[in-house]
Amino acid sequence: MKVAVIGGGWAGLAAAIHLTAAGIPTTLFEAGRHLGGRARQAHTALGPLDNGQHILLGAYESILALMRQVGANPEQLLDRYPLQVRDNQGFCLALPDWPPPFNLAKGLLAAKGTNLGDKLRTALWMQGLKFRRFRLKQDQSVSQWLDAAGQTGPLRQRLWEPLCLAALNTAPEQASAQIFAQVLRDSLGSSQGGATDLLLPKGTLSDLLPTPAQDWLSKNRIRTGQRVKQLYRDTSGAGGWQVDQEPFDQVILALAPQHLAALLPDTTALPLPDYDFEPIGTLYFQYPAHAKLPFPLLALQGGMGQWLVDRGQGCIAASLSGHGTWEQLSTSDLAQALHEEIAPQLGLSPGSSLPPHQLIKEQRATFSCRPNQARCPQRTPWPGLWIAGDHCWSDYPATLEGAVRSGLHAARLCLENR
Ligand SMILES: Cc1cc2nc3c(=O)[nH]c(=O)nc-3n(C[C@H](O)[C@H](O)[C@H](O)COP(=O)(O)OP(=O)(O)OC[C@H]3O[C@@H](n4cnc5c(N)ncnc54)[C@H](O)[C@@H]3O)c2cc1C
Repeated sequence: MKVAVIGGGWAGLAAAIHLTAAGIPTTLFEAGRHLGGRARQAHTALGPLDNGQHILLGAYESILALMRQVGANPEQLLDRYPLQVRDNQGFCLALPDWPPPFNLAKGLLAAKGTNLGDKLRTALWMQGLKFRRFRLKQDQSVSQWLDAAGQTGPLRQRLWEPLCLAALNTAPEQASAQIFAQVLRDSLGSSQGGATDLLLPKGTLSDLLPTPAQDWLSKNRIRTGQRVKQLYRDTSGAGGWQVDQEPFDQVILALAPQHLAALLPDTTALPLPDYDFEPIGTLYFQYPAHAKLPFPLLALQGGMGQWLVDRGQGCIAASLSGHGTWEQLSTSDLAQALHEEIAPQLGLSPGSSLPPHQLIKEQRATFSCRPNQARCPQRTPWPGLWIAGDHCWSDYPATLEGAVRSGLHAARLCLENR
């Protein structure tokens, strides 16, 4: 059996690695010059940076296992921190390195920037969610859900809303409460130690998976720089598929949703869900090498900025998730506005000169994770054609872990269909 995986993002990489490990000759086609899709290293005027700031969690088990499988050691490549949600206005929820649920209980009790009533209401609410296994009676927006749950105190604005925007890349007024609840289930609500830990790449995203995977997969089976143009079913002889006129027995389409329709044999037989998209902007600033945030992840309240990540050596990444006023600003105005918010956090004066910076904007960073958003199925009506990608994994919003899980699942479907 020969399999083609089309799309070399993290979903496609996961599928190709799983199939190759099972002894199946697998060819990976990637339109770009490098593997990694939306999560890879980019070459910029400031040096090698990520194509957009990414944060991983201890709960991302499939990614960590896949890294190990291709010889990438997560302990060496990722900095691990017990979760802290801090902001520039004095809020701080820091989980101690204790087993769950004691870490969350202690973290909540000791949280700064909120009051006892709010903490108790939140603790009770989390207990109720656990009891109901994080299943909602019906999906609604995160804002409606928090209103109905009486989550209207400081923790809403300082914790839940920033977490929702960061995890779902969709504003709480539009984001799916059910998917947000599932993110909480596998992080703050998880009974697994370390699930909430923050994992920050020490180098770039390519070091985590795309580069080790490229070294691990058979070189002659990786076709970077080849955008597949034609995919059709071979109706002569033994069947199978022709990928740009090369025969394969099965095919996995590991593409972002906007690229799928072009390769599907017939979109009337498999109507694709309607996805809206959300942008993400990452503005990297190069401050003097000694400049440091108090904790590598810091939320910004009361201005333009949302989250800052300290990349070390004075490099600060400011992430802007979802649609917002930031999109209307020129790069220099946006950089100036963010610099004025960042500088005091580094002990610099807001009037200090603007450091070198680089904006990376992904217009279609993720699908918009709305209530009851339909997802693309991984099975298709055609034998031997499967779909993978972050948009298929209905348990999660668009995440690296969702992409990897969908890729592994598609590979298993291929193997079962052998
Ligand atoms: C700026 C940014 C920040 C993010 N932050 C986080 C985060 O903090 N945590 C997190 O978990 N997730 C984050 N995400 C989401 C995460 O990056 C995605 O969910 C994940 O990378 C999707 O992987 P994928 O393989 O499904 O799709 P993609 O990465 O889009 O891969 C699809 C690949 O298919 C290729 N392709 C398309 N058409 C063809 C063709 N015809 N032939 C061959 N190849 C083709 C494309 O070039 C691409 O490489 C972020 C995303 C962005 C953009």
